[in-house]
Amino acid sequence: MPFENLNLHPYIIKAIKELGYTTPTPIQKKAIPELLAGHDIMASAQTGTGKTAAFILPALHHLATPSKINSRGPRILVLTPTRELALQVSEAANKYGKYLRRIKIVSILGGMPYPLQNKLLSQPVDILVATPGRLLDHIQRGKINFSRLKMLVLDEADRMLDMGFINDVERIASSIKNDHQTLLFSATLDNTITSIANRLLKSPKRIQIATQQTKLDNIEQRLHHVEDISHKIKLLSHLLCDID
Ligand code: AMP
Repeated sequence: MPFENLNLHPYIIKAIKELGYTTPTPIQKKAIPELLAGHDIMASAQTGTGKTAAFILPALHHLATPSKINSRGPRILVLTPTRELALQVSEAANKYGKYLRRIKIVSILGGMPYPLQNKLLSQPVDILVATPGRLLDHIQRGKINFSRLKMLVLDEADRMLDMGFINDVERIASSIKNDHQTLLFSATLDNTITSIANRLLKSPKRIQIATQQTKLDNIEQRLHHVEDISHKIKLLSHLLCDID
């Protein structure tokens, strides 16, 4: 099936084509129509399956139509467990949205100065990509208005759970009062993740993509005990210099 059949905005298709994507991946094929139809989804998909585009493309499609609500607050909120993932999501949104009218993407991550983040949040935001702890801080200080939020994405929900962020995620979700779609992506959809989904999602469509477990026979794993960080660096450099 070509991307054209997904009914995404022509400027999004143009950007995708330029990147050399010819057909949607399985998660994109299943998730994008459900999201364009306004459903919540819970999907099991790992990194490498094209899951980022599966939610960013419908999000950008939504942003192509101006909001009727007069507010500067984000229209799309993506919560990620790590800063690296947040940066990947922002990059993907920039890439796929390059032909749409200027899309303002803001990242709010832990460990970064508050004054800069306060400034970014005082300006109009289309897509807000954030790690949960720092975002909750800003919400509690009254810095974020969710009145025009249309989509909340919980990316790698299982990792947010493992890293102890899930209470913050639930608090953030409960601070959004207006009607919006919620999407949950997780490597696995076990009982704990399903019960979180039951609390945060409305009649979600469940999407399960078979995981491709590639067996990498030529990778050998070893454990080395080290005294301290300088010993670790010496040992690592010794191993990296050993061509055999
Ligand atoms: P992700 O699973 O979101 O981390 O994506 C993995 C990689 O697949 C990224 O480098 C994307 O640029 C790429 N990708 C996503 N969708 C497609 C597609 N439909 N065709 C080809 N590559 C894609």
